Amino acid sequence: VTGDELMARALATAARAYAPYSGLRVGAAVLTAGGAVHAGANVENASYGSSLCAERAAVAAMVAADPADREIRAVAIAVADPAAGPCFPCGACRQVLHEFGCRDVLVRRDGAVARHALVALLPHPFGPHDLPPETGG
Ligand code: ZN
Repeated sequence: VTGDELMARALATAARAYAPYSGLRVGAAVLTAGGAVHAGANVENASYGSSLCAERAAVAAMVAADPADREIRAVAIAVADPAAGPCFPCGACRQVLHEFGCRDVLVRRDGAVARHALVALLPHPFGPHDLPPETGG
């Protein structure tokens, strides 16, 4: 799966987002170490704080699909509006992506795919290894 293919999957999913409040329709697609692709779209809610980002929706789909293939190589994030600028993951999503070892974050910039290392977007992350061994590390 190339970066362009992963981005195409994110873009196709963005078109199906549920975003009646912000109008910002976002799609995300994660590529796992096993080569699987799982996509998600943002799901907004009348109770705004109950809204879910596309990235975390994609991660939830990955988790539900295969417990043996949960290491993320890359995530692509796309906004349905072709005039939109690059859409980077919010802080909460950066944290969730880190949990599953995500390496690269792909965003659209001027019609092309731009690749960023997650560690550059979330320096000094808190992760499973920061917990005591008996709880998660
Ligand atoms: Zn988010």
